[in-house]
Amino acid sequence: MTPSVEKIISLVSDIDENDKALIEKAYKFAEKAHKGQLRKSGDPYFTHVANTALNLADLGMKAKTISAGLLHDVLEDADITEEELKKEFGDEIVELIKGVTKLGKVKYQGVERNVENLRKFFISVAKDLRVLVIKLADRLHNMETLEHVRPDKQKRIALETLEIYAPLADRLSMGRLKGKLEDAAFKFAYHKEYEEVKKLLTEKKGVEEKYLIEVKDTITKKIKEAKIRGTKIDSRQKHLYSLWKKLQKYEMDISKVYDIIALRVMVNTVADCYHVLGLIHGEWTPVPNRFKDYIATPKANGYQSLHTTIFTGTGGIAEIQIRTHEMHEKAENGIAAHYIYKEGKIEKEIPKEFEWVQQLHDLNQHEDSPEKFLETIKMDFFSTRVFVFTPKGDIVDLPEDSSVVDFAYAIHTDIGNHIQGAKVNGKNAPLNHKLKTNDIVEIQVNKNAKPSTKWLNYAKTTLARKQINNHFKEGNSLLSKFLSFGKN
Ligand code: MN
Repeated sequence: MTPSVEKIISLVSDIDENDKALIEKAYKFAEKAHKGQLRKSGDPYFTHVANTALNLADLGMKAKTISAGLLHDVLEDADITEEELKKEFGDEIVELIKGVTKLGKVKYQGVERNVENLRKFFISVAKDLRVLVIKLADRLHNMETLEHVRPDKQKRIALETLEIYAPLADRLSMGRLKGKLEDAAFKFAYHKEYEEVKKLLTEKKGVEEKYLIEVKDTITKKIKEAKIRGTKIDSRQKHLYSLWKKLQKYEMDISKVYDIIALRVMVNTVADCYHVLGLIHGEWTPVPNRFKDYIATPKANGYQSLHTTIFTGTGGIAEIQIRTHEMHEKAENGIAAHYIYKEGKIEKEIPKEFEWVQQLHDLNQHEDSPEKFLETIKMDFFSTRVFVFTPKGDIVDLPEDSSVVDFAYAIHTDIGNHIQGAKVNGKNAPLNHKLKTNDIVEIQVNKNAKPSTKWLNYAKTTLARKQINNHFKEGNSLLSKFLSFGKN
């Protein structure tokens, strides 16, 4: 179905007449440009770009990005030149469209990837994140219509979505989009498993819902008695793909998963969050070791919320998440909700949770061979991360299997270059000790200590390996200077 321009505009908050006119113009322009073209589904091609724009509006994006979404395929697939487009819509929108067109050439082929394009991909991403958001909105519509694509292509596209696009959405803390992409791809990437998880979920859901209704009623009453204003309670069902990933850890035993459906309490202030938590723990016994305070200690992508799991007293177990409305909006829409796209006012500063984008960009500047670059991306970007702490409580984000050496170099080159020893959670640990999420790591330095070649075996991150190698290069050149000095 093709969404109307009114429908798209209705999703944009605080829109003025100029922005409305821009979206209307882009809508008409794209409709005309794609006239007569059809999708594999038999729908007019324009349906695809209009839905991409609708997704963008739904993600909270503004007029220029939505317009670029409408126009994202006109350079590649219609008879429109860059000059024409520039004349009609200006440089900024054309740059966005060119970025998206470039990304369209990226194909993930399992081990064989198009390295050159991946490189372009990340450069354009780091230059303007709106390009990535448009590409994700485009990908979502393509996933939702994947059934019309040739079966042998379906699996490749679905895997690409799971391994490249969904992790990117996660990194941009766009939780809702990540869930949609994963579930749409899951069905095509792992069909049998998808059906199995869906069946398990349907069986379990009914029971869970029964417990939750009682819990919800009681919480609503308690909040009213405590006179906490502006609260909202709803529930969220775990996405199928993330449920599958969790089930794999528990040998597919669904009775071990407590957050299939979770209650979400949204309140006005942080103080209200802890107040509501107190009310809940006063009423029900919390399940030991299941309480998580992501408000005091946010996840690396910026996610904030309190999570607790309680015994409902009627034989059930329920997870409850408590957060402010603002934290909720941010968790659902991430970068689109709170980052720079209040258009016309682009902030120069990148928020801390998006610093990795800058790091990727920096990484990309090095003239390593494409293979090297690809390895780096695989290693540092797509592998699972661990989050460890300095003794002061600063959080450090590292790839899985990182060691004490990686941690030290992530803090500072000078600390890395002078590691004497380390303590993990208060106990002495060897330098090759692999770190786990929540470890507290303390590095002991000594100005006389220096890197050893063995450290290259301990270092997982590109940064640490590079710094260790640099140390030896510098050392060698000093040595050769010394030797050639002797010859003179
Ligand atoms: Mn497209």
